[in-house]
Amino acid sequence: KYYNMVEDMKGKIRVFCRIRPVNRSEAVQGGAIVVNKLDDYSVTVETHRGLREFQFDKVFSAEASQEDLFQDTNRLIQSVIDGFNVCIFAYGQTGSGKTFTMVGDKDQKKLGIMPRSFNAMFDIMQENSSKFDFKVSAYMLELYNDRLQDLFVSQAGEAHAQTRPNSQPRRVEIKRNRKGVVFAQGAETKEASSAQELYALFQQACANRHISATKMNVESSRSHLIVGIMVESRNLTNGSISSGKLSLVDLAGSERAAKTGAKDDQLKEANSINKSLSALGDVISALSAELPHVPYRNSKLTQVMQDSLGGNAKTLMIVNISPTEYNLDETLTSLIYATRVK
Ligand code: ADP
Ligand code: MG
Repeated sequence: KYYNMVEDMKGKIRVFCRIRPVNRSEAVQGGAIVVNKLDDYSVTVETHRGLREFQFDKVFSAEASQEDLFQDTNRLIQSVIDGFNVCIFAYGQTGSGKTFTMVGDKDQKKLGIMPRSFNAMFDIMQENSSKFDFKVSAYMLELYNDRLQDLFVSQAGEAHAQTRPNSQPRRVEIKRNRKGVVFAQGAETKEASSAQELYALFQQACANRHISATKMNVESSRSHLIVGIMVESRNLTNGSISSGKLSLVDLAGSERAAKTGAKDDQLKEANSINKSLSALGDVISALSAELPHVPYRNSKLTQVMQDSLGGNAKTLMIVNISPTEYNLDETLTSLIYATRVK
């Protein structure tokens, strides 16, 4: 039953909710668990005013493994090869498990959706290699304070280049081609011929992201990470070509500025994040209400994600939440944001 639903999800947005395990600092603070998985499709939260229930397409408890989560995601990778645009993104406050879900850890068992998708993608292509020729290419970007950065370019090198006369800082702009496919003008697109090569590109991007965050003295969790993987397949019998795209997004933390006591630069940063996340929420609710106008143009984030939200695209949003009372307010905010989709 469930797989039919995923197959059927063209143009729709599905929402999974994942509750992370209690962490050490919460355990030390004696944080009571107030969030529970009720069944595969619902979560309960003990609020100060009583029990609230939230419904999802699937709920994953703290015990769910990375493999469990990916089992429900795998079908989407086949869709990319079949020529669909697919977007998988993680939403939640900092520390709720977004990066763990999307990227994971090096340990084989802890690999997240990204490396598992790379493997699944090349496995499927391998199985079909007698009938199709495939070409895989990727861009990897960071969106920080409304500025897009190419993560294939080391910012350390860029800073040096900018001290030379006549050199322009590299600008990355979002454009769409005639088919409506988003591409990052000014950013490099690199080809990969194996899952290992794609993963190596991703690691290089993460290293550059870390260098640029350190240089600007900001937390990398305050920027959006956007990975676009294009798959072109040429039918060896009739020469026809189809292309699909997988967008993988690890969003910046959704927490509100007040809690972190933000000032000046931090406030600008928080405002920029709030603006982009609410623009994303507006797009999602316009799509689910089937409104005639979808406000994609309100932020760079929704512009980058435009070809993977709505239309024929298949979108999966994963809401990551903490289980404890300490994070109750942010958890409720995330759950309410996520249910705008319904
Ligand atoms: P975010 O990216 O939302 O800020 P992280 O993914 O970095 O949060 O998670 C915060 C911490 O919690 C990390 O140390 C991470 O390894 C751990 N963690 C998150 N989710 C899980 C999970 N499902 N199982 C085990 N550890 C997790
Ligand atoms: Mg993170």
